[in-house]
Amino acid sequence: MKFYPEKYKIKDQRMKPFIDPEEIWDYINNTESTKERVREVIAKALNKERLNLKETAVLINANDPELIEEIKQGAKTLKEKVYGNRIVLFAPLYVGNKCTNNCEYCGFKASNKDAIRQTLSDNELIKEVEALEDNGQKRLILVYGEHKHYSPEFIAKNVKTVYSVKKGNGEIRRVNINAAPLDIDGFRTVKDAGIGTYQIFQETYHPEAYAKYHLGGKKRDFEYRLTSLDRAQEAGLDDVGIGALFGLYDWRYEVLAMVRHTNHFEACYNVGPHTISFPRIQDASAVNVDPKYMITDDEFTRLIAILRLAVPYTGLILTARESEQVRREVMSFGVSQIDGGTKLELGSYHESQNEEQNLNREQFAINDNRSLAEIIDELIENEYLPSFCTACYRLGRTGEHFMEFSVPGFIKRFCTPNAILTLAEYIEDYATPEVADKAWRIINKEIKGLDDEKVVCLVNERIEKIKQGERDMYF
Ligand code: SAM
Ligand code: SF4
Repeated sequence: MKFYPEKYKIKDQRMKPFIDPEEIWDYINNTESTKERVREVIAKALNKERLNLKETAVLINANDPELIEEIKQGAKTLKEKVYGNRIVLFAPLYVGNKCTNNCEYCGFKASNKDAIRQTLSDNELIKEVEALEDNGQKRLILVYGEHKHYSPEFIAKNVKTVYSVKKGNGEIRRVNINAAPLDIDGFRTVKDAGIGTYQIFQETYHPEAYAKYHLGGKKRDFEYRLTSLDRAQEAGLDDVGIGALFGLYDWRYEVLAMVRHTNHFEACYNVGPHTISFPRIQDASAVNVDPKYMITDDEFTRLIAILRLAVPYTGLILTARESEQVRREVMSFGVSQIDGGTKLELGSYHESQNEEQNLNREQFAINDNRSLAEIIDELIENEYLPSFCTACYRLGRTGEHFMEFSVPGFIKRFCTPNAILTLAEYIEDYATPEVADKAWRIINKEIKGLDDEKVVCLVNERIEKIKQGERDMYF
């Protein structure tokens, strides 16, 4: 392919790179964005149709503040119309920060000699998981640097350990992974350990910008990373998460490239990515990034609204990298998952380290340091329904976001009831009396919104069982 420099030559013919920078720039530079076109495109998304690259470019090129507002309103309407009030909660758990790569933006890069390197022992991992269970967490994402120590077998062993830890009524019911790209056998090994999603962010989809920021180690290979989740699919791991790190290259290009990545999965595997993430660069120890492409809060919120409309049935993840204010705003555009009570220092869920954030122990600094309880309290205050649901994944219902989106009544039959039951468990096991009062009010409100009497009866029956000590019932 002519747009790839010689060094990105394809080795595995099954996995051809599918990003053509010229094509993407062509869409951005040559797509007109009139008021009428923008409105037509928003209407198409509200009609539950995924947007193509040209239509996404129409939204990207809408610069008039009034049109930007219409795009944000469109995203809000889509969220309200399709997804309702649920927000799924999870926590990241950093297992090891040894790393042989040199990503210029990351505190874990090999050249950062100030970074304090650590890999959790089995015992430390168990303690971390117990502490997370004590807070009420049910879904974790294990995070690793890239190092030979963190082999597929090592990750698989960690996953099994995490699932085995039960403290009181606490247990982890879904373990996701964010780690280095693997080969097909490696993906098979971690899949067999029972993982949920495997996340790999391309960081930037622009080969030259990628080369500028990835200075050493295996991650330098743009193409190997780009096709990593194709190898996951080959291994039967169809639950994958993609993402771009905003601040490395032009945000408009990255948004279109992620839509392209989504189309590629749909065309080749008949399933889109499970989730899309859009981390923004945060301060880190020894970070070295050209500020040229840093994006403002306005651009950031705008791009999330565009993504919501462009890929209406993909989960959107927003992390504690962002401030409370930004999180509050974009949740209304259809973010479906957030983390709560996040700590990035290795071992810090069970051992309180320095109160002050210590950049030498973290990958980067976060902006939302609230506890899970505080996050839940705020979600409820804002009429969201916090959820720890893991039902689809455990029942083998893959493509759950697609079902939520396209199967009439799916949310009211499955998602809302499961969110209610997992919140009821949280109330019984972990909530303060004050939060519990508010949370029961939300639960009652959500039950009123369920229109099938049979489902209402079942939900009420199961809530009674939860009050009597039964756990883990789902639809
Ligand atoms: N080491 C693996 C990798 O690079 O894919 C997985 C874990 S890495 C710790 C997770 C993600 O954190 C990266 O993919 C990158 O997008 C993000 N990240 C790295 N440095 C960051 C920074 N300074 N601010 C925000 N996000 C950052
Ligand atoms: Fe290592 Fe990942 Fe950080 Fe790159 S982003 S230096 S691969 S931990």
